[in-house]
Amino acid sequence: MKMLALVLNAPRDLTLERVPVKEPSADEILIRVKACGVCGTDLHLFEGTGGAMDSEYPLIMGHEFAGEIVRCGDAVTDLKSGDHVAVDPNVYCGKCEPCRSGEVHFCQNMVGIGTTAPGAFAEYCTVPSRSAYKVDPSLSLDVAAMMEPVGCCLHGVDRANIQPGCTTVIIGFGPAGQIIAQLALLSGSARLIVIEPVAEKRAMARAIGATTVIDPLH
Ligand SMILES: [Zn+2]
Ligand SMILES: [Zn+2]
Repeated sequence: MKMLALVLNAPRDLTLERVPVKEPSADEILIRVKACGVCGTDLHLFEGTGGAMDSEYPLIMGHEFAGEIVRCGDAVTDLKSGDHVAVDPNVYCGKCEPCRSGEVHFCQNMVGIGTTAPGAFAEYCTVPSRSAYKVDPSLSLDVAAMMEPVGCCLHGVDRANIQPGCTTVIIGFGPAGQIIAQLALLSGSARLIVIEPVAEKRAMARAIGATTVIDPLH
């Protein structure tokens, strides 16, 4: 079976190609990709300026995605074809010291779906079943695809320990800033100050509920 995929052969050399679909091994699932975000990391990889991990070309990028399961490996028991899933693209080994002390995000053998392994800028993507999270079919898959960036932002909001009544300042209102703003408000932030030079993004900050919006250039 073949699929269409956007293949990054070298920096700034992105082509739509027909490539083989990877059949799922016993503990993997094959997903029909329905939605995939474009991350700042993808732009870095496209430009050849590198992401958080060492990537090699050719590469199929795309790590913020959701879709529908087409086929499951023989050992997969908790998911089935037709299920809607969102994917955690960082596949940890479970064996190294950080993994064994519960800090899997510091795994020394991390595989990144869409950064070091084939990702979701393609019709299909094959991933370990433990990296897939079932989502309710009532949730649209383009919303479900935002699970990865929302997860990153949620970790940041947890680290910042935002409590009810807090004042939160967000410098830069790109996609991550927009997600953090909503999470800060949901965490009970009483005042939300956004500093952003682009007028459209400042308007978005007001729409989301920022109490003070500052243009740092004027
Ligand atoms: Zn990303
Ligand atoms: Zn590990």
